Amino acid sequence: MVRHCTSHVPYYIDLFKRLGLRPEDVATQQDLQKLPLLDSKLVRENFDRLISPQHRNWLCHTGTTSGTTGLPSKFLRDFNAINFEHAAIWRNWHNAGDDGKRRISLRGDIIVPSAQKQPPFWRYNPADQELQMSSYHLSPGSAPHYIDKLLEFRPQILYCGPSMGHVLAKLFRLNRVDYTFDAVFTSSESLAQPVREFIEQTFHTRVVDWYGQSERVAAIGQCHCGAYHVQEDYSIVEFLPAHGNTTEIVGTQLHNYVMPLLRYRTADYVEMPKVQRPCACGSQFRTVDRIIGRYYGYLITPEGYHIAITAHIPTGVDNMIEAQFHQERQGEVIVKLVTNGRFGPDDAAKLIASVKSHTSPDMQVRLEEVPHIPRGPNGKFINIVNRMTANAPITREAA
Ligand SMILES: [Zn+2]
Repeated sequence: MVRHCTSHVPYYIDLFKRLGLRPEDVATQQDLQKLPLLDSKLVRENFDRLISPQHRNWLCHTGTTSGTTGLPSKFLRDFNAINFEHAAIWRNWHNAGDDGKRRISLRGDIIVPSAQKQPPFWRYNPADQELQMSSYHLSPGSAPHYIDKLLEFRPQILYCGPSMGHVLAKLFRLNRVDYTFDAVFTSSESLAQPVREFIEQTFHTRVVDWYGQSERVAAIGQCHCGAYHVQEDYSIVEFLPAHGNTTEIVGTQLHNYVMPLLRYRTADYVEMPKVQRPCACGSQFRTVDRIIGRYYGYLITPEGYHIAITAHIPTGVDNMIEAQFHQERQGEVIVKLVTNGRFGPDDAAKLIASVKSHTSPDMQVRLEEVPHIPRGPNGKFINIVNRMTANAPITREAA
């Protein structure tokens, strides 16, 4: 990859020249440290110069990310890299017990037009062999349609983002429908422990989590023992010490020739074990203790703490389906919430207490019921919309 970069990619040709390095000077993992780190800002500024013209063709795919600063970045991936990505994910599913089972997905993709009011809110995708259900249309009102379709289709596997899996589980409980999945595969967002437990208990199953990012520089997947393994053949992953015992994921691509990223800072954080121990699954890949993920937003407490909230529904508030935290002034938060119509003073008191316990007892909390919470770019659920500063250091985290 280094040889390719220094022969075909203008950005790296210049970089190596400037540093006085030859390709053979970067021959081992250790040698990578001779190169500076790359980040989303540098990629934005050098987009065209990071592309290998020979590898740019109609099979390339452009991925985007909103990043921590809210400025969108674009990334090009070639056909080989896209296939490798699929292979890595399929291997993880297979190892976790999915050998071609009936599957539904509830992700951010646009499945049917957002203005559509009547079912079907799904379509069968024969290429991916899955029933794709729209996460945009999932609400207390449409839940019976989803449940009927699901009972008819009888999927064994659910593939979703944690927030949508959580919503689906809530709606099954509210409608008193019992269902068992063989496994639930989550990805795309940080998975908080209470959310994992809620989904596992509701669907009598286990959640198998996968971490990746639009930049495709690192992948971490859970094995059937539950350990998170760095997919070492996917990319070269370094962990940069950050705050406390957290480290930032830095990845070097091995498969993407059209726009190779070397030592790219993801702004995603993990906690590493003090000592690497062998996993019972037999994998030699390193493990990480916990994926904290990317902090898209913070709430700022009256004391000035910056709090990232990783679960979008505070637990224990049964009549609430979704919540989004808005902040315009320090020490004050507005919770926009979608309810099942039976949200009462008890629920309000519980919710306010929960927000205060995760942030500050002096936080002013206002509740605002809304019919729907719009999804963000790429269909992701946005937990926190903060009109105050977005780029503050992490000091504390709430689940
Ligand atoms: Zn393992």
